Amino acid sequence: MTREQDPTLDELKRLLDLEENASMTELTENIQRLRDSQRDLERAETLAKIGSWRLDLRTRRVTASDQARRVYGLEGTEWSIEQVQALPLKEYRQSLNAELKNLMEKGTPYDIEFKILRPSDNSIRFIHSVAEFDPELQMVVGTLQDITERKRAEEALEESEEIFRQFMEYSPIYVFFKDDQLRSLRLSANYEAMLGKPMDELLGKSMDELFPSDLARAMVEDDKRILREGKTVEIEEELDGRHYSTIKFPIHSGENPQYLAGFTLDITERKHAEEERAKLQAQLNQAQKMESVGRLAGGVAHDFNNMLGVILGYTELALEKVNPSDSLHDDLLEILNATRRSTEVVRQLLAFARKQTIAPKVLDLNETIEGMLKMLRRLLGEDIDLAWLPGKGVEWVRMDPSQIDQILANLCVNARDAIGDVGKITIETAKVSFDEAYCADHAGFVPGDFILMAVSDNGCGMDKEIVAHLFEPFFTTKGPGKGTGLGLATVYGIIKQNNGFINVYSEPGKGTTFKTYLPIHEVAAKPEGKKDPTRSTVQGSETILLVEDEPAILRITGIMLEKLGYTVLTANRPGEAIRMAREHIGEIHLLMTDVVMPEMNGRDLAKTLLSLFPNLKRLFMSGYTANVIAHHGVLDEGVQFIQKPFSTHDVAVKVRQALKDG
Ligand code: ADP
Ligand code: MG
Repeated sequence: MTREQDPTLDELKRLLDLEENASMTELTENIQRLRDSQRDLERAETLAKIGSWRLDLRTRRVTASDQARRVYGLEGTEWSIEQVQALPLKEYRQSLNAELKNLMEKGTPYDIEFKILRPSDNSIRFIHSVAEFDPELQMVVGTLQDITERKRAEEALEESEEIFRQFMEYSPIYVFFKDDQLRSLRLSANYEAMLGKPMDELLGKSMDELFPSDLARAMVEDDKRILREGKTVEIEEELDGRHYSTIKFPIHSGENPQYLAGFTLDITERKHAEEERAKLQAQLNQAQKMESVGRLAGGVAHDFNNMLGVILGYTELALEKVNPSDSLHDDLLEILNATRRSTEVVRQLLAFARKQTIAPKVLDLNETIEGMLKMLRRLLGEDIDLAWLPGKGVEWVRMDPSQIDQILANLCVNARDAIGDVGKITIETAKVSFDEAYCADHAGFVPGDFILMAVSDNGCGMDKEIVAHLFEPFFTTKGPGKGTGLGLATVYGIIKQNNGFINVYSEPGKGTTFKTYLPIHEVAAKPEGKKDPTRSTVQGSETILLVEDEPAILRITGIMLEKLGYTVLTANRPGEAIRMAREHIGEIHLLMTDVVMPEMNGRDLAKTLLSLFPNLKRLFMSGYTANVIAHHGVLDEGVQFIQKPFSTHDVAVKVRQALKDG
C-alpha cells in the first residue's frame, strides 16, 4: 500500500488518531519546553540578579518575576502601580514619573538608577531599571537590578580618590609617585611652588626634565636601587639653597616593585637652627674654657706675686749694700729686671683672670684715647699710619684709665706685628645698640647701648684656627722671645671685668678688626682728671702697724718701711696685731695689712682696730683681688690698695697717699 492510494475510512480514522496523538505529544512537548525555558529564565534572572516585570496599562497592574520580587522586596506576583510607585525615595519620584510619562507618550525607552526603601527589610537599595513600551499590547516591559554593592564600591572608590586628591592638594610635605620608568606620576600640589611650574608641566616627566642634572642623576641612581632591591632609602638633598630630607620606597603591584613613592620635607629652618645651636654651643664652650683657664692663671698669679715681692725687696736691699762699681751690682740689676718682667707677666695674667685690682673713673673715652695717641705713635714707629676716628655721641665710660691704655697698647702692637713693614691702623669709636635678635645670635652679648672701640689693621689677617684660640693665655704664633701670648688674654680679661664684649673679624691677607664694646656710664658726671700720684715726699716718720701672714713678705716690707723712716710694728696674725695695738703706748697712724689671712680678713681687722684708734688710716695689700675690699676687682670707694709685688718706691708713694686719704 502506498500513500498515493486513497485512504480507507479506517485508515483515515487511524491517521487522524495518529495526528491527534501527535499534536498532543507535540503540545505536551511544547509545554515542557516552555516550562524549561521559564525555569532557565528564572535561573538566569537569579544568577544575573536581574528581575523582569511588565505593566499592563489597561489593568494598571504590575506582574513581576521572582527575582524582581526579591529585588523590590514585595509580596505576591502582582502589584498595583501605586504599590510600586511608593517604593522609590522621595527625591527620585519626580524624575521617575517623568521618565515613565516620556516612555508612554513618546515611546522613549528608559534606563535609570534610583534608590528605594525595600519593605522586606527596610534597607535602602540602589536599583537599576531599563524599560520599553509595547504600544500594541499597551504594556511596559522592563528589568530590575539591585546594584547596591557595585554602587557602594564605586562610592568608596570615589571617596578614597577624593581623599587622595585632597591629600595631594593640601599636603605640607612634598609627596611624589613615579612610574617604573622613573617619570613623575603624581605630585603633591606644593611641587608647583618648589619647581615654579604648573602641574601639567610637571607630570609624566623624567627627573632630568624637572631637576638640575646633578641632582637628577643622584635621584635616579637611588630610585633604581629602590626598584632593584625593593628597599626604602632615606637621603638629604639640596636645591636652590634649601635643604630637603626625602624618604623613598617601592610600591609593589604583583611580583616586582612597579612604582616608587616618597615624601620630601623642607628641613632648611631646622638645619639652620641646628647650625646656629652648634655655633652657640661652640661659643659657650669657648667662654667656659676661658673661664677655667682664667681661674688657673689667677691662682698661679697669687703665689707668684708673694714670691716676686720677696725677690724684689731683697734685691733692692742687696743693691744698696753693693758698691755700683762691683760686678755683683750688675748681676743684681739683672735679677731686678727679670723680676720686673715677671711682675708684668703676672700682672697680665691677673688682668686676663679679671683679678686685676682697678680703680674705675668716669672718663670721656674719646679724650682718653686722644691723650694716648702720642705714646701709641711712638710705639708703632714711622712706617705705620695711625688713623683716629672719634665717633659722635660717644658718652662716658667708667673704667680704670690704665686699662684703656692696656687694651689699646696690646691691640696696636699686635696690629703692628701683623703689618710687618708699611701699613695702616685705625682706631675708631662709636655708639651702638644691640637688640634681642643680635644677642640671641651672639653668645655673651646683652641688649642695650654700648660704646664701640675698634682697632683695625690692613696686616696679614688670621685664619679660623688662629681666631679660635686668640684669647687663650700663652697662645702665640710669634717666634720664641717675640710673643708671650698674653696680650689678647689681657684685653679679653679687661673687657670682661668691665662687663663689655669683644669680637674679631679677620681674613687671611685682608687684615683684622677687633671690636670692643664697653657699657655706657649712664650718669653724665664730669670726668675726673687723671691724677699723678705725688712723687715729692716719699719719706715719713709715722708709726705703721704691718700685718702679713707670709713671713718673708712681712720681713722685707718691714725693712722697706723702716728705711723710709717709719716706725714699724709687725704682726703675722690679726690676733697678734690687735694685742700689739692694745699694748702699744702712743699713736698708730697707719694699718698696712694683707687682705686674705687666716683667723680674720684684713677688712675686719681694720674695723676692730678702728674702734681703738678712730683716726687710724688703712692701706690694704694683696697679690690677688679678694672680694673683701673689691668686688670683682673693683675697689670699694675710698679704699687704699697696693698691688703685690711692690718696690720700695711703690710703697713709699702709696703709704704717703694712704696717710693722707686712707
Ligand atoms: P702675642 O702678641 O704675644 O703673640 P697676643 O695674645 O697678643 O699674643 O696675640 C695672640 C696671637 O694672635 C698672635 O700671636 C697672632 O697670631 C694673633 N693676632 C693678634 N692680633 C692680630 C692681628 N691684628 N692680626 C693678625 N694676627 C693677630
Ligand atoms: Mg700681642
